[in-house]
Amino acid sequence: MKLIKQLAIVVLFFAAVQVKAQTNNAKMKTYIDALMKKMTLDEKIGQLNLPGSGDIVTGQASNSDIAKKIKEGKVGGLFNIKTVEKIREVQKIAVEQSRLKIPLIFGMDVIHGYKTTYPIPLALSCTWNMQTIEQSARVAGIEASADGICWTFSPMVDIARDPRWGRIAEGSGEDTYLGSMIAKAMVKGYQGDNSFSKNNTIMSCVKHYAMYGAAEAGRDYNTTDMSRVRMFNEYLPPYKAAVDAGAGSIMASFNEVDGIPATGNKFLMTDVLRKQWGFKGFTVTDYTGINEMIDHGMGDLKQVSALAMNAGIHMDMVGEGFLTTLKQSLQEGKVTQKQIDDACRLILEAKYKLGLFDDPYKYCDANRAKTEIFTADHLKSARAAAAESFVLLKNQNNLLPLKKSGTIALIGPLADTKENMSGTWSVATDLDKCISVKAGLQNALGANAKILYAKGSNLDADSALEERATMFGRSIGRDKRTAQEMQNEALAIAAQADVIVAALGEASEMSGESSSRSDLRVPQVQRELLEALLKTGKPVVLVLFTGRPLVIRWENANVPAILNVWFGGSEAGNAIADVLFGDVNPSGKLTTTFPQNVGQIPIYYSHKNTGRPLPDGQWFQKFRSNYLDISNDPVYPFGYGLSYTTFSYSDIKLSDSSLTNTGKITATVTLTNTGSRDGSEVVQLYTRDMVGSITRPVKELKGFQKIWLKAGESKTVTFTITANDLKFYNSDLKYVAEPGAFKVFIGGNSRDVKEANFKLK
Ligand code: BGC
Repeated sequence: MKLIKQLAIVVLFFAAVQVKAQTNNAKMKTYIDALMKKMTLDEKIGQLNLPGSGDIVTGQASNSDIAKKIKEGKVGGLFNIKTVEKIREVQKIAVEQSRLKIPLIFGMDVIHGYKTTYPIPLALSCTWNMQTIEQSARVAGIEASADGICWTFSPMVDIARDPRWGRIAEGSGEDTYLGSMIAKAMVKGYQGDNSFSKNNTIMSCVKHYAMYGAAEAGRDYNTTDMSRVRMFNEYLPPYKAAVDAGAGSIMASFNEVDGIPATGNKFLMTDVLRKQWGFKGFTVTDYTGINEMIDHGMGDLKQVSALAMNAGIHMDMVGEGFLTTLKQSLQEGKVTQKQIDDACRLILEAKYKLGLFDDPYKYCDANRAKTEIFTADHLKSARAAAAESFVLLKNQNNLLPLKKSGTIALIGPLADTKENMSGTWSVATDLDKCISVKAGLQNALGANAKILYAKGSNLDADSALEERATMFGRSIGRDKRTAQEMQNEALAIAAQADVIVAALGEASEMSGESSSRSDLRVPQVQRELLEALLKTGKPVVLVLFTGRPLVIRWENANVPAILNVWFGGSEAGNAIADVLFGDVNPSGKLTTTFPQNVGQIPIYYSHKNTGRPLPDGQWFQKFRSNYLDISNDPVYPFGYGLSYTTFSYSDIKLSDSSLTNTGKITATVTLTNTGSRDGSEVVQLYTRDMVGSITRPVKELKGFQKIWLKAGESKTVTFTITANDLKFYNSDLKYVAEPGAFKVFIGGNSRDVKEANFKLK
């Protein structure tokens, strides 16, 4: 009886929510219908225009070029403008001086935090902790909205399996399932319950739709070409997950897909996004995405603008192709009035949903910034997230954690550079306030231990490359001494120390947009420094900075301890100290495979078998799928990461050896913390479909749980498997689960797993 009552309450609650949503939608429609009746064609096209903010100066906004356009109703929104003062000033122009007083929407690249900067997204993904990730987006939303921003160009959900591509740093790595979970968590973090009832939730814009991460040769903006089966099974699901989570907008990618740039690609923008997935929000181009179709060879500005509109693009970022050509295209019958109306309506709807018609200054509360940005609480959360994102790659003889005593030689070009801690796409970060490794170690040690510091080498021997790699204020400062002189200084302090901490790797702008690399090794001059440090015979800990998987085969073979710290954000240095000294036990697990060399790329765990696979654990066999000069193995597989404790897995217990289409089975293991410290382990579940109507990957992640265990403690970890988890897009692009034999694997990474078998009936 009680259950029936509870059920009835739940049903009534959802019915009430639905009725409310319908009423809200009806109200919105009435409002926008009335507004659009008053709009001229020019004003409608104006709403589709999204210029960058240029250099609007506070107090001078109304004299800017942009102001003129806003007054004329030629601007729908602005991006990369911040602070309540500036945004209020610009909004005032729109709502007081334009004919219809339509408010503007204000966007920004709030990618991994705002002022309080979290680790880069690739690092965050290595936490495998959806609460941590959602919280990072929540804090970013709070801070950005306190500074006037209501729309973020995030999450970036592009699957990437080529670490040459610099933008691998901005996403969640190589895996479709994990990427989809993270996409959802991020949207929730930004948008809350999707009602935008509070002024601290902001609208998300999922990007870059689609397949941007599959650029040929890892060169940014390059051609993408893949089968539909691969698109639907491996690359599209994270975008769909974000759409299903209610993302308000989506950004087209720069690359072509099937020979048509995404910005002009109707299959992507309309057939899949709107018709198949039922997306109700608006689409925006990437920066000059329409204009770039001219260079792609799709026609002149008028042609490519019409192409974008016909494909299903609503807002034009920066390029003003819509603004300057759509009217003529309409007269020539190249686009329709309905298309322009629909685009305009969707943008107005976004503003309506954000509450900007009710209060154009909703996000302009001048009191918030002081108390809600860069707060102690936010910094604490960013520090914990950073420590959780680090991946312990090697720890021979438990060299780590270090003692908080004795003398530590801190050496390397990344050791004392606060400007390089926040990582790529941290546009609102105050670089000066980021914590360097040196500062972090000092904070942790106080007077208990001595730190000796030397830079040891420049970032790269090639000064021109170093300059390209440290743009946007990330300079490390070029040392004029010779490499030998710098090394000698480092060796002199190393001689006085008990342990060497070498902070090496990439500068933060060596990954991110337009930062592709063809050589993924630690720059040679740093490698030589590392070799010299190792030769001292002192214990060496490599603290490795990187925005991508690097080629560190040599380091793995020769350095006793390696902690991969990515770019940890505002609190990077403190978080690094937390882990180096064992106040936090590392638990990060890789979300991208680390290759042995560039020639192995793309290398990812969920590959297909060939008809001539190499037996596990072997290397060269003639007429098998392998290389003459390197094994097929990575240096570190997907899902890999060590802890200061150890974990053991029991065999898998299945509740049943067969599964029906509507039923479920469970797979259970007992996880034991076999070491002497408390710690977390990410327990990963993979499946393999043994026979399919199309070839199937050798392993696919289907679940994970992050489990905290005290030293010596055991826990049973149970996963439920249903037919739904086994579905894939077949060659007709139907989403099906095919009966037959399956394997299930559970383990602490994608390589070292227990396995069991079951059947889907
Ligand atoms: C990037 C986008 C970004 C946009 C606006 C482009 O160059 O590809 O990720 O959102 O600029 O800043």
